Amino acid sequence: MPAITSGRVLVTGANGYIAVWIVKSLLDAGFAVRGTVRAESKATYLRKLFQSFGDKLEVVVVPDMTKEDAFAEHVQDVDAIAHTASPFHMNAVEPDEIIGPAVAGTLSVLKAAHVHGAVVKRVIVLSSTAALFRTTTEPVVLDESAWNEQAIAEVKEKGRDASAVAKYRASKTLAERAAWEWYEEKKKAGVLGWDLVVLNPPFVYGPILHECDRPENLNQSMRDWYRLIVEGKIDNDTLVTGGAMYVDVRDIAQAHTLALLKPEAGDNRFIISAGPYKWQDFASAAHRFDDKLPAGVTSYDPSKATHLLQYDNRKAIDVLGITYRSIDEVTNDSLQDFKARGWL
Ligand code: NDP
Repeated sequence: MPAITSGRVLVTGANGYIAVWIVKSLLDAGFAVRGTVRAESKATYLRKLFQSFGDKLEVVVVPDMTKEDAFAEHVQDVDAIAHTASPFHMNAVEPDEIIGPAVAGTLSVLKAAHVHGAVVKRVIVLSSTAALFRTTTEPVVLDESAWNEQAIAEVKEKGRDASAVAKYRASKTLAERAAWEWYEEKKKAGVLGWDLVVLNPPFVYGPILHECDRPENLNQSMRDWYRLIVEGKIDNDTLVTGGAMYVDVRDIAQAHTLALLKPEAGDNRFIISAGPYKWQDFASAAHRFDDKLPAGVTSYDPSKATHLLQYDNRKAIDVLGITYRSIDEVTNDSLQDFKARGWL
């Protein structure tokens, strides 16, 4: 596919934490954006936030993305699609409560692009490193060939008794796998006019742009960050041993725009990860920027921390040309944002 440098992009779940930054990145790059939300009440804030872009932003209501033809009329005149809408929570009782909409929503978007997207050139699916993750007792670096078979197996074996995080990880793994299987079959048949890109970020942190009235209503990842780093609701052991990999929300948003601009991105999944962290890394930075925030474990030495599971982020650097914000930038900008909201 040639580079997509102008035109209109459909963004599903446009009111979400990451999606609003994606919309901003696309508008800043000169694209027109059509965002989908589940209810008209979620459109007002978005229209106001981006009012300086005039009619470059349109917000439409898709009440149930899993319904046949849910996106039919909205994909007809778009050059590309970024699919972000997917449940991200730890409240599912039956696994299918979260897996069902994740898989059906993704397939619904791809099918709409195929049947009705006359000028679509590229579809980007926002997956997660949850679709690659595995628990490990040995150091391991996963690249884009990895798949999270563990979460699928746990959910299959334990059903509703599987851990909440396994149900979420299975939802991301199965949705992404369904996307690739459907895509490969159509591609083989030579019936697609567009190509697929999948982006796999780990935990996404950083300032918020979406509508949110109080910290308890933050999205899953920033709610955790706020509770642990701002409220200090974390014990010393978890501060220095607990952690994962992170990426700044503005960088995963930018990755979506870069994925349109780079022709060679097509047919690829990309890990979009800045690097590993222990919670103490964020706590140390937060305390440096605001000494009223908990210092945590002051004897912590980041150079001695072990990160058993890591993700290889080179492919996105090489192909997309992405750059990553540091833990200090994520922390400082998040704290500034919270201060401006009176949450600190
Ligand atoms: P948010 O909860 O802020 O946004 C989720 C979006 O998906 C909202 O627009 C929400 O709509 C929509 N959505 C949820 N369930 C459904 C459904 N059943 N039908 C239609 N729309 C639905 O989450 P994030 O911005 O954090 O996450 C966005 C995407 O990024 C998800 O796919 C998530 O898996 C992925 N991701 C997030 C990471 C993170 O750390 N935040 C890390 C890796 C991947 P509504 O507001 O109406 O509920």
